[in-house]
Amino acid sequence: MNNEIYKPKKYFAIALDPIHIGTGGYRIGRVDNTIVREPATGIPKIPGTTIEGNCRNYAFLDAKSDGRLEGNLACAKGKKVKGDDGKDIQPCGECEICITFGYTKDDKSMQAMASFSDARILFFPVATMIGPVWVTCPMVLKDAGIRESNNDSEKEIPEPVGNKFIIPNGCKIQPPEEKLNFGWLLLEKDNKDINPETWNLKGIPKDILNRIVIVPDDLFPQIINSNLEVRTSVSIDPLTGTAEEGALFTYEAIPRGTVFWFEVIYQNPKYFGIDKIKTKDNEKDANINEIINTVKSGLKYFEFLGVGGMSSRGFGRLKVLNLETSNNNIENGEEDGKSEE
Ligand SMILES: [Zn+2]
Repeated sequence: MNNEIYKPKKYFAIALDPIHIGTGGYRIGRVDNTIVREPATGIPKIPGTTIEGNCRNYAFLDAKSDGRLEGNLACAKGKKVKGDDGKDIQPCGECEICITFGYTKDDKSMQAMASFSDARILFFPVATMIGPVWVTCPMVLKDAGIRESNNDSEKEIPEPVGNKFIIPNGCKIQPPEEKLNFGWLLLEKDNKDINPETWNLKGIPKDILNRIVIVPDDLFPQIINSNLEVRTSVSIDPLTGTAEEGALFTYEAIPRGTVFWFEVIYQNPKYFGIDKIKTKDNEKDANINEIINTVKSGLKYFEFLGVGGMSSRGFGRLKVLNLETSNNNIENGEEDGKSEE
């Protein structure tokens, strides 16, 4: 078990707040603060670097607060920082944070043992005349490694033909007259047979899985981008504490209730010549499960402290749904049956 060279894990997460990962303040149309998107499709995403950076920070705080780690601030950053006395502090290069997330010292650098993909939208909530539905498309399901398997054969999820939508078997949605509006877009139902029972979506609430709708690939980005949340905020003058005149600005955000997926590839530190991980007063064996547990100790804070650094404005809380049981192997959906801890 601990001799594997690498191990991929797939995680699902749901936005508890709107999520805003900004591109740096360029104005596009009516929106001042636009969000990061995938270049090819224009679909908003959370960059892997954002997830990794927040995870590292929270894992560091967790390790310090429960006494696993002495750890200096440079370990939290992964590179040298200036201490209070103005002297450089180097990352230790031996603790669970440095080994899991990588580090750069003056004399040595080491790559991360955990690499994070972007978090991409899997199910996107849209208000319709019969209440919220969660929209997805065959391309997105395929990218997430979700396939339909029956009688030992696997097949990709079929695409609805001609601007129609498919309601997978077992979903509890009944659109009147077989039509449904997605924001301003009205589509007709395609009666294709899709069976989501074998999709292996552990951790995603039944309330969401019961309300899934599959739309054509080319309509998915359009439906998302016309149903993003746009919030207006006021610039506050820091001196007077009052609103600056004419300083209204708008934020674009991925709405609450959006379900994402992302993958973390874990590498075995032993194959990089790392045998031990330094703890506060001792050391422990370096293995893949230690790396997985360190990442888990950071991800568990996302639902309280958020990602993207805007939680004080009510943005960014993201609950990882399958932290306890996230043994999904993205290659074959295999369970490894190993309990963590
Ligand atoms: Zn360290």
